[in-house]
Amino acid sequence: MLLFKKVVDLKHYLAKEKRAGKSIGFAPTMGALHAGHRSLVERSQAECDLTVCSIFVNPAQFNDPKDLEKYPRTERQDIRLLNQAHCDVLFLPDVTQMYPDGHKMSKQFTFGLLDKTMEGASRPGHFAGVAQAVWRLLDIVAPDVLYMGQKDFQQVSIVASMLQQMQSAVRLIMCATIREPDGLAMSSRNVLLSTTARQRAPLLFHILEMVRLKMKNHLPADLKLEAIHSLRKGGFEPDYFEIVDGHTLQAVQTFEQAEFVVACVAAKLDGIRLIDNIILKRIGAEDAPV
Ligand code: AMP
Repeated sequence: MLLFKKVVDLKHYLAKEKRAGKSIGFAPTMGALHAGHRSLVERSQAECDLTVCSIFVNPAQFNDPKDLEKYPRTERQDIRLLNQAHCDVLFLPDVTQMYPDGHKMSKQFTFGLLDKTMEGASRPGHFAGVAQAVWRLLDIVAPDVLYMGQKDFQQVSIVASMLQQMQSAVRLIMCATIREPDGLAMSSRNVLLSTTARQRAPLLFHILEMVRLKMKNHLPADLKLEAIHSLRKGGFEPDYFEIVDGHTLQAVQTFEQAEFVVACVAAKLDGIRLIDNIILKRIGAEDAPV
């Protein structure tokens, strides 16, 4: 695997590969890599001629400085995992490479209601920061295909909207959430959980599964209440639990009203914020990311 730290070097290398007719797949990450990240790299490897992975802990998307500070960093291990996954290129920029003009947003996007709800409501400025980093990385890497995880479902919606606003030809692929054997969605933050919190954590996924089982005979609003109650009982501090139209991210009143319905949750356990989601229903356009 080739490692680049400078934008100009990566651009030179990729320009040469593109001239040779190679297709580029790209998986942006914040490091502390696990099997979820690896699945994005492997999908890109299977579908593209050349796979680029980036690791950049993006300060612009952290509204809580403490969260940024304690974000796990495991560079050596990450490089090993990417080598094992046969990743071709790792881009490891520092802040000055990513944001030479400082943190100010060089490009403005409007996300309508997409960034006003759930993660957007709980973490002010988060998606503006995500958009800033992804926009910059897309400008540098100029991939044919962008691989992102369903684990961060709202993020995929935001990036899809951004690509639309840019009239970009980049194809966005949403990859399924990879889970631990007990159901917990893999996340870089899982290593921050204490032993007891780690044992409790799969409840998040079990509650989403409970909603799936009960959706035939219950209304979304009732299942939301039940989910929040179960989370509290299980020691979680719920941030939100929403059953939304997967296209608009607005809460649905009935399961029949939308063709694409997703249950999304965020909750704190022992001070560690975890998120998860499952698709409850999807009719048509299964190959579209969101
Ligand atoms: P992060 O490093 O957390 O910013 O994640 C980088 C990319 O990996 C994002 O597109 C995430 O959605 C994706 N990702 C994170 N966790 C998982 C997972 N458990 N399964 C699949 N994709 C994931």
